Amino acid sequence: MPGIFIDVEVSDAAREDSELAHKLEEVCPVDIFAAAGGTVEVVEENLDECILCEMCVRAAPPGGVRVVKLYEDGAALER
Ligand code: SF4
Repeated sequence: MPGIFIDVEVSDAAREDSELAHKLEEVCPVDIFAAAGGTVEVVEENLDECILCEMCVRAAPPGGVRVVKLYEDGAALER
């Protein structure tokens, strides 16, 4: 089930980056990312657990990951 409050968008290039997939799996404190077969998978059932720590945004290259606050008209954490 997708998040009610949070969505996480991963760019196509970032999604295919297996090194990044493992990094994201490691940094997110609430397990929103899984390294599945060398690609980045977003674990939808955990989305609303996001604590807006920005670790994923900083771990990814610019434009790689956006954390979208659905409750705030789509305002996003991004770089
Ligand atoms: S902002 Fe923090 S808690 Fe939210 S998805 Fe990124 S790493 Fe996980």
